[in-house]
Amino acid sequence: MVIRISSKHVIYSFSPLNKPVAYAKPKDIIVFETIDALGGQAKSEETPIDVIDWSRVNPATGPLFVETAEPGDTLVVDILDIKTDDKAVILVAPGYGVLHDKQFSPRIKLLYYEKDFVKFNSLDIEPKPMIGVIGVAPEEGEVATGSLGVHGGNMDIALLGRGSRLYLPVFTRGALLAIGDLHLVQGDGELCVSAAEVSGEVTVRVDIVKNKKPKYPILELNDKYAILTHGKTLDEAVYRASEAAVEALMKAHSLVFEEAYMLASLVVDLRINQVVDPFKGARAEIPKKYISIEDLFSQ
Ligand code: CA
Repeated sequence: MVIRISSKHVIYSFSPLNKPVAYAKPKDIIVFETIDALGGQAKSEETPIDVIDWSRVNPATGPLFVETAEPGDTLVVDILDIKTDDKAVILVAPGYGVLHDKQFSPRIKLLYYEKDFVKFNSLDIEPKPMIGVIGVAPEEGEVATGSLGVHGGNMDIALLGRGSRLYLPVFTRGALLAIGDLHLVQGDGELCVSAAEVSGEVTVRVDIVKNKKPKYPILELNDKYAILTHGKTLDEAVYRASEAAVEALMKAHSLVFEEAYMLASLVVDLRINQVVDPFKGARAEIPKKYISIEDLFSQ
């Protein structure tokens, strides 16, 4: 049986106090219907940016209670499919994005998905549907769905698409998974502050690894693992990703720090996730040849 969660059930912050709207067992398949990051408020290119209600941005659908998930476990989320609407929206606004200090006007642009491409004026962009917001309840307090941390959240990772697998540390009973903020396409960095923001639905399979968890969320692709970190600055995010990568290589190959540090410099790729959210996001990509998922569990 497939469990379906309507986009009527949205949260604006991740919290252990959120009431579950659906229940699943390990290995169940769940469809999350999601609304775009602007809460569907930008209906045309003429929508004035100042009428957007910012309390309704970054809705995440859920939360889902996953049975048997306890603090100290890992929630495994397989992204089986992402379907999107054929109309997406991107915006720029002074004060936002990497070039926030430039003189420019707020602008909304609609992007249509036609004949296998995202149309940007006369240009055809290859779609790479991905999930912007995916996370579990943090250990305590509440974290806005527009922010990010070790619980996941608004990580905005271009690689987090169909066929990928995400490992999230569990901090509360049931994990309380929520998903939202699909992008039809986004480059690393998301430099103008938004991507091709789109509504749609995500099909996932959940599973639990008992009694061990990674220090940070881990993304698994065909050929590599990526350690997903955040920081007040990109330097801080990159430091955390590097440290976790070196620790994992020490564990994988019984190396002393000095040797693992050298090996990391040869085989680990540091990449930018995004630089425009409340915390910057980076990742350390490690080819599977050099590491197993077990090496990335910190307990
Ligand atoms: Ca986002």
